[in-house]
Amino acid sequence: MVHQKAHEKRAGEAGGKARGEGTTQPGFKLWKLRHKPLSPISLGKGRIVLGCSKYRSMFTLTMEQRLLSLLPVELRQTVEQIETRIGNPIRTYPLTEDCRRIIGNFPMLNLEQRDGRLFVDVMLPRGDLPPAHAIGHEILHAKRAVLDSDPILLTSIASRCVAGAAINNDVAHLRVIPEEMGHFREAGPFWKQGFSDMLVGFASRILNDPDRQAVRNDMLRAWLVASVVLPDWDRSDHLKKQLEEIGAGRDADNLTRVYSNVFKNKIAVLSALVRFHRFEATGFQTVTVGSDPVPLPSHS
Ligand SMILES: [Zn+2]
Repeated sequence: MVHQKAHEKRAGEAGGKARGEGTTQPGFKLWKLRHKPLSPISLGKGRIVLGCSKYRSMFTLTMEQRLLSLLPVELRQTVEQIETRIGNPIRTYPLTEDCRRIIGNFPMLNLEQRDGRLFVDVMLPRGDLPPAHAIGHEILHAKRAVLDSDPILLTSIASRCVAGAAINNDVAHLRVIPEEMGHFREAGPFWKQGFSDMLVGFASRILNDPDRQAVRNDMLRAWLVASVVLPDWDRSDHLKKQLEEIGAGRDADNLTRVYSNVFKNKIAVLSALVRFHRFEATGFQTVTVGSDPVPLPSHS
C-alpha cells in the first residue's frame, strides 16, 4: 500500500504540476529538486535552499548505517564523496507534518548553502523506510548538484518560481533516473508505472484545469523526461495523443529535437525548457554550488 502511494506521488513529481503563484520575496528563491515545489521562502542574498525549511525543530541524524546499508557500494562511495566535498555529514530528518502535507509521505532532498557552507539533508517519511531506490534517487540528485556542479535555475519572479522548480526537477531527472535505474533493477518498472499514472492526471487536467499553459508545460516536460529516460515505455503514444489533443504535438517533437542537439550543454537544456515554457530568459539566472549566479543566456 505504501509502495502504491509512492508510485502515485512520484508520478505527480515527474511531471509535477508547475503552477500557482509564489509570494513576492526579495532575492533568490526556494526551489526543490524533487516533488511538487513549495511556496518560495525569502532566504537572503547568496543563500540557497532547496526544499522545505520547516524541519529544523525536528531532531537530526546523520546518514545512518541502516540507510547506507540499503545502498549499493558505489552510492555509499558517492555519499562519502559528497560529505568530503561539503565538509559535513549528509543528515537525515524526519519529514515534518508541514512537508508531508504538501509533498506526501516521501523522501525529499534539501540543499542549503548557509554561511559559506553547504548542507545536504535527506528528509525521510514516517513509518517504514522508503525503498532503496528512493533513497538512492535523492543521493543521485545531491551528486548532480554537489559533485557534478549541475547548474540550477533561479528566478526572482514570483510567478515563475514554481515552474522554475519543476524545470530544475525534470532537467535533473533526465540524468538522475537513468542512473537510478542503473543501480536499482526495480526503478525502471517504478518509473514506468509512475508515468502511466500521470496520464490519468493529465486526462483530468485537460478537461478541468483552467490554467491551460501550466497543463501544456507540465505535459511537455513529462514528454521530454519519458522520451529520454524511458524510451521503451509502452504508453508514450498515449501521452503524445494527449499532447496533440491540446495542440502541443509539434511543440513536443520540437522539444525532443532541440534536446537532442543541446543535451551536452546543461545550461542550454535549462534555457530550452524556459523557452518552451514561453518564458523570457531575462527573468532567470543559473547557479552552481559554490558559485555566483549568472544570467540565463537569452534565447536567440
Ligand atoms: Zn527526483
